[in-house]
Amino acid sequence: MAETTLKSARACCECKDVLQMRLTTRLKRSRQMVRLVRPHELVPGDLIYPIFVREDGRRFGIPSMRGQSYLSLESAVKTCRQVVDLGVPAVMVFGVVKKKDTDASIALRKNGFHSQIFRRLKREFGDDLVLISNICLCDYTAEEFCVYSEKGKVLNEKTGEMLGKIAAIHAEAGADVIAPAAMCDGQVRHIRSALDREGFEDVAVMTYIKTDSCLFQPFFEAMTLSKTPRRGIDSSKFRTDIINEKMFMQKVDLDISEEADMIIIKPALTNLDLILRVKLKYPAIPIAAYQVSGEYAMIKLLGEYGHLDEKVLLMETLNSIKRAGTDMILTYHALEAAKLLEKAR
Ligand SMILES: [Zn+2]
Repeated sequence: MAETTLKSARACCECKDVLQMRLTTRLKRSRQMVRLVRPHELVPGDLIYPIFVREDGRRFGIPSMRGQSYLSLESAVKTCRQVVDLGVPAVMVFGVVKKKDTDASIALRKNGFHSQIFRRLKREFGDDLVLISNICLCDYTAEEFCVYSEKGKVLNEKTGEMLGKIAAIHAEAGADVIAPAAMCDGQVRHIRSALDREGFEDVAVMTYIKTDSCLFQPFFEAMTLSKTPRRGIDSSKFRTDIINEKMFMQKVDLDISEEADMIIIKPALTNLDLILRVKLKYPAIPIAAYQVSGEYAMIKLLGEYGHLDEKVLLMETLNSIKRAGTDMILTYHALEAAKLLEKAR
């Protein structure tokens, strides 16, 4: 029966149905044949490793993200050496400062901790490692607000202006890319104009577009100095509604219209359809997806409990994120993934 079907398919090769009748097993004859016909393949060069560097120099495991550690500036250099050696081209830097203040003005200090990180890493690695600076007010404000607000209203312009000033300071210290995480309207416009004004026209802006999600929780615990949960403005005011893809695309449109060079979509797993939408609408804009802390923890814990193989699940998720249309993936598993990819070649 199968023979007849194939013969009739060949007989009418003009017919579109021929594609549906083709045996897919031919393309799966061997592992290398499978590799050969892939339209894209995940490589270490697609990965970005997020690192947490502490100003107090303390090194210890991050309780909410088992397997990840806080780094001192010195140990960050060692970790980045590993990153470079594994062929991973970039790190996303999160600085954990010793002390925060009410209005984030400590972010403007001369030679603040973030500047020290970028200066040191740039001196050590030059152009061998892309340094991405995550910029948000919550890194500096005691109440850990991401934006300035008044009576529950986000102050977009005031927040954007401050982010622009911080961006120029980090660029001056050696950051290659600025990644604003506050999600306020106008942040890309303010940052772009501050960078251009200060002579950093060649520093790129990689803007975050986030849907509201509980998957950020382990990260917040990692970045929160006090044990108390964040207070203040509701995060849904500056993230987009996960149910509403139109709201998400409006934010993408806005940030691209303000000259964002690249965008980061997060979380990754809950937004695979949105990655594809952005890819189809803006094929020329590089897209990153962030496999966030909650996704990391799910993979890690399922492996630790023996429910699934951590490595297999990791590669399945990363490949699905790549297939959805991303050019880059931020993942806390970047080092493990790079090793697995190297082994699989
Ligand atoms: Zn924030």
